Amino acid sequence: MSGINRKERLKCVRRLVVKVGTRVLSSENNLPDVRWIETLAGQIAQLRCRGIEVVVVSSGAIGAGMGQLSMSRRPRSIPQLQAAAAVGQNQLMHSYQVAFGRHNLTIAQILLTADDLKNRQRYLNVRNTLLTLWHYGVIPVLNENDSVATDEITVGDNDNLSAQVANLIDAHLLIILSDTDGFFSADPRKAPQARLINTITEITPELEKLAGQTATEVATGGMRTKLEAAKILTASGQMMLIANGRKHSLVSILNGKEVGTLFLPQAERMASRKRWIAFSHPPKGVLVVDDGAVQAIAEKGKSLLPSGVIKLKGEFENGEVVNIQNLKGQDIARGLVNYRDKELKKILGKKSSEIEKILGYCYYEEVVHRDNLVVL
Ligand code: GLU
Repeated sequence: MSGINRKERLKCVRRLVVKVGTRVLSSENNLPDVRWIETLAGQIAQLRCRGIEVVVVSSGAIGAGMGQLSMSRRPRSIPQLQAAAAVGQNQLMHSYQVAFGRHNLTIAQILLTADDLKNRQRYLNVRNTLLTLWHYGVIPVLNENDSVATDEITVGDNDNLSAQVANLIDAHLLIILSDTDGFFSADPRKAPQARLINTITEITPELEKLAGQTATEVATGGMRTKLEAAKILTASGQMMLIANGRKHSLVSILNGKEVGTLFLPQAERMASRKRWIAFSHPPKGVLVVDDGAVQAIAEKGKSLLPSGVIKLKGEFENGEVVNIQNLKGQDIARGLVNYRDKELKKILGKKSSEIEKILGYCYYEEVVHRDNLVVL
């Protein structure tokens, strides 16, 4: 598949998520750069004429709030950050509205927390809202609901949020518009020989190490969070592209211009519900399983039974997501667990037929049913 050229690959993109980073859309005083946003709107208008549906995930609320409140430095305290986000989000949307209005495009605001993505009902509601907005020709502009999100419910960074949104709407491609040119073979600020990587077919441990070192943005995450986003998308069978939003237009990127870094899918397209299980919630615990169970899950497509579970870590309720690890500590799958940790401790290593005798009830014969299990 990697033999196909970029142009061919990008030709099939019909649903697109565009993530706009704070640095790329802000002007010097931190307020949104309406002219830049207007150019973006013009590009999105062109893409829509080609039948491409677009969702924008926009950062910049905290930055805009800082500008508006004349804060010279990013505040450290959570209430100040949340106040800045509350002021700035409004400012940001106003700028989007003016800029998109000049191209006769209507926008809509959706603010999400991690809870909205974790809860299946709300997750599906967000999807339906997005599809309905598209139906009316509206461009949805999303951000994290920074002024209410606290540690437990925060997605944390918009690279991750945009990957989740791409999963949610089954996008073909996520484009991250950043102030960097893409993913480099070394930190370009320190190593003059650093080379821009055009295409990444596999996210190797070396790349992860590199991303950890190259925090090329002042915004939340730098390359590390971008690589995390790429891992989610490529494992779900989607593509991601990082490009410099100050230098390149969405239209030329989708025309196949060789700019930025393109991450190719590393798997077949994953079914929508499985994507939600695998990537919309941080796992609450770990089940360590024996080799027989690994084989049954990974090779034979079977459910995980209590007899294969050797030990567990973490505290979790039934219905929450757990990682399934082999004896070497490698994650091999992720799934929705049928028993809470305290129940599971009593039945691990036992046969399913013994569950009722031990617990006094047997809701399920499986610890994780294969329908709720994603092999990684
Ligand atoms: N949600 C934050 C904001 O609007 C940005 C987070 C990020 O850039 O990752 O300021």
